[in-house]
Amino acid sequence: MRLEKILKEKFHFSSFRKGQKEIIEDLVKGKNVMVMLPTGAGKSICYQLPGYILDGTVLIVSPLLSLMEDQVQQLKSRGEKNVIGLNSFLSYQKRKSALQSIHRYRFIYVSPEILQSAEVIHALEKIKISLFVIDEAHCISQWGHEFRTDYLKLDDVKKKLGNPPCLALTATATSMVIEDIIHQLDLPDVAKHIYSIDRPNIAINVKKIDSLDDKIKTTIEFVKSLEGPGIVYFSSRIWTEKMAMILRENGINRVAYYHGGLENDDRLLIQQQFIQDQLDVICCTNAFGMGVDKANVRFIVHFHYPSQIESYLQEIGRAGRDGNPSLAILLYCNDDHDLAKSIVLHDLPNDEEWSLVFTLVSNSKQKPSLHELELLMYERYGISEIKWRFMKYQLEMEKVYVNGSVNPNLYVDDAKINILNT
Ligand code: ADP
Ligand code: MG
Repeated sequence: MRLEKILKEKFHFSSFRKGQKEIIEDLVKGKNVMVMLPTGAGKSICYQLPGYILDGTVLIVSPLLSLMEDQVQQLKSRGEKNVIGLNSFLSYQKRKSALQSIHRYRFIYVSPEILQSAEVIHALEKIKISLFVIDEAHCISQWGHEFRTDYLKLDDVKKKLGNPPCLALTATATSMVIEDIIHQLDLPDVAKHIYSIDRPNIAINVKKIDSLDDKIKTTIEFVKSLEGPGIVYFSSRIWTEKMAMILRENGINRVAYYHGGLENDDRLLIQQQFIQDQLDVICCTNAFGMGVDKANVRFIVHFHYPSQIESYLQEIGRAGRDGNPSLAILLYCNDDHDLAKSIVLHDLPNDEEWSLVFTLVSNSKQKPSLHELELLMYERYGISEIKWRFMKYQLEMEKVYVNGSVNPNLYVDDAKINILNT
């Protein structure tokens, strides 16, 4: 009964969803726990609720800035003041003041990279970590072995922090990935809560289309005939705008487009309108969806397919959260393959972006530290987070940066040639 009471008081929910209570009970007992539950199942509550029972601070490792911000905002909106997101994009001043008042936080979200900062670890060592959480834990396996190697150091971090009980959460993992996570985090006697990620109320269809024109026609037909509300996913911003216009020309008025290039206010407004049933269709890129929790989405159309099967699962998972029958349709055209390939390439830094970095590293009298470069790239040049992480990895691999500063013995041109040739 006690758990229900906290659920009601802190989160205003009247009952637990599948799996939540059993998971929380294990955590309160101090066990290590591995969880696989589908997207939207409510995994966050599994560590947020114990935050109000366990003595100490819940430390959550989160892979992306946007996810972290989303969670921090959600807790704040529930009245939780003692929550913060710590990541390397935080300015020096903000980080410093957060670390000085580290004692006050009940929830601290961190990126795996920031846990390699001695200053951060030093601050965290001073407090009691009641629970060490790895959200989206498949990243350990998916990225850890490649370019975000700090994921593989989480076990060491955990031990430095007094080896608190650990909770690993994911919505997408094969049994091999699950074993890898457990191995990497060194979780003896782990309690596994593995649920099917199947969503039986979502019917999945792939429709082969011959030409782009047909694709547009088919999309119009679907949007007109299917029960809404619905989401149409595209892999380019321009296409979201184009299709929203085409749909309007075809008599579908309550339609909007949404992508990362819109102003924050516009994005919020469109989300709100969709959630409140003032819009029937959203044409969007994958920027739409995170933090949009709408129960009655009836269809998801993929005009372009995403570059990862995990993203596909996440995106169709936004349909039918109310349990009612829903539809996922992927429109596939032979040419789509080239598009997907070019998008994967687009996620990688291009020659121009590398030139920019090398200009900064070699020209300026005051060579930027790795952290300064990071802030520059992220804030001034708008490089995406994943792209920067990849660049940073290569800069360290080629020893352009050593221990966070420009390598004084560096032959910039050699490093540049090496990087551009990989
Ligand atoms: P996941 O991380 O598994 O994808 P989230 O933790 O983000 O899912 O939760 C998805 C949504 O479900 C959130 O809006 C959350 O508030 C809601 N939710 C979680 N638990 C419950 C519950 N017991 N009752 C009702 N809504 C819930
Ligand atoms: Mg989640």
